[in-house]
Amino acid sequence: MSRRDEVTALLQSLLRLDTVNPPGNETQAAHLLRDYLAQNGIAGELYARAPERANLVARIEGGDGPTLAFLCHTDTVLADPAEWARDPWSGDLVDGEVWGRGALDMKGQVAANAVAFASLAREGFAPSGDLLFIATADEEVGGDDGYGLMWLCAEHPDAVRCDYALNEGAGERLVLGGNAVYFAASAEKMSAPFTIRVHGRSGHASMPGIADNALVKAARYLEALGAYEPPQELIPEAKGLLEAVLGEAPPLEEALARAAAVHPLLPALVEPLLAFTLSPTMIDASHQRNVIPALCEITVDCRLLPETTPADVEPLIRAALGNGRYDLEFDEATGGTRSPLGTPLWDALERYTESIEPGARLAPMACPGFTDSHYLRQAFGTVAYGFFPIRHMDPELATKLVHSADERIKVDDLELGVEMLRSVAQSLLFS
Ligand SMILES: [Zn+2]
Repeated sequence: MSRRDEVTALLQSLLRLDTVNPPGNETQAAHLLRDYLAQNGIAGELYARAPERANLVARIEGGDGPTLAFLCHTDTVLADPAEWARDPWSGDLVDGEVWGRGALDMKGQVAANAVAFASLAREGFAPSGDLLFIATADEEVGGDDGYGLMWLCAEHPDAVRCDYALNEGAGERLVLGGNAVYFAASAEKMSAPFTIRVHGRSGHASMPGIADNALVKAARYLEALGAYEPPQELIPEAKGLLEAVLGEAPPLEEALARAAAVHPLLPALVEPLLAFTLSPTMIDASHQRNVIPALCEITVDCRLLPETTPADVEPLIRAALGNGRYDLEFDEATGGTRSPLGTPLWDALERYTESIEPGARLAPMACPGFTDSHYLRQAFGTVAYGFFPIRHMDPELATKLVHSADERIKVDDLELGVEMLRSVAQSLLFS
């Protein structure tokens, strides 16, 4: 069987397992992958905090050189069959595309990782350092009390410690000025939501004069948040991205306009890299129409640039809110780590993109969302990048399908993924 057919069949089998999280039930996928690897002569090991939530780790032993992990997660978000043109767990192959929840996020990459790993092992790949296959549970929900990579890093660090990792997070391809640019995620923004509490005094709503309405008092803070423009700065990921797509990093005030002139999708990629973002999303006050609220709470989604902390931005936010009596409290912050650019893994990805398309460039980006790369960076200082090239599917369509209805992946992109992983492993761990 060709690797193309092999990865297609493995993905179809993975998609037919319902690993919607919650509840996850990822052990089914871990068993399928363990059996597949076993057929290829590789012994994988299950690590489970709960029997139905297993992670799988396998290893091709190498010399004492650097270790590389193919990292992926086997859980998916939910799917509502009523929204789909096909059964979300069908794994149907139609017109060169494999359909199902998780095809893009990220069972396609799980299958490609497994086939790249198994095919190298079959060929007697003797790497200079270990090559790891890590398929985690509970990425989509996870958190501090999760069953996936955070738990593995804490409880089984020797199983998952690695110098380099390739994970999900990017791989989009845009054609800019005649040249292809592929995006690789080298950092993540930190999710740092906070709550503003405005206090007043309750009273009967028919006599507003006797009370002090916290909801009305909160209006000025809401307006101030909406009007606030966080200060921009040029972080390494933004500089690298602008250099790759424009040939140079322009002055900050021109960056968005210059990016928009090159491609309509670019400003959406560039803008979150220039500053932290604030979006008030929820408000809570009185729960009864005829009671004037003594308390109003505004919840704000806030995303910080990599390696900045709530303490860095809190004074700026308070200055924007102005004087007045309110409490501002940050909730638990997550993510926000980065890996440097210009590492041997970055170079290997760059060589790879040039090899598939002459003149193609690799551009860094920071994920606005969270991935498991964060835990490896935090625990071991791993250089982790998100990269799975989507060359054949339209990038706008692929972005739209993730976590949405009718999710599917082109077999051409699956096959490309397998070859990319093999090539990068061979180049980094020179066989
Ligand atoms: Zn994912």
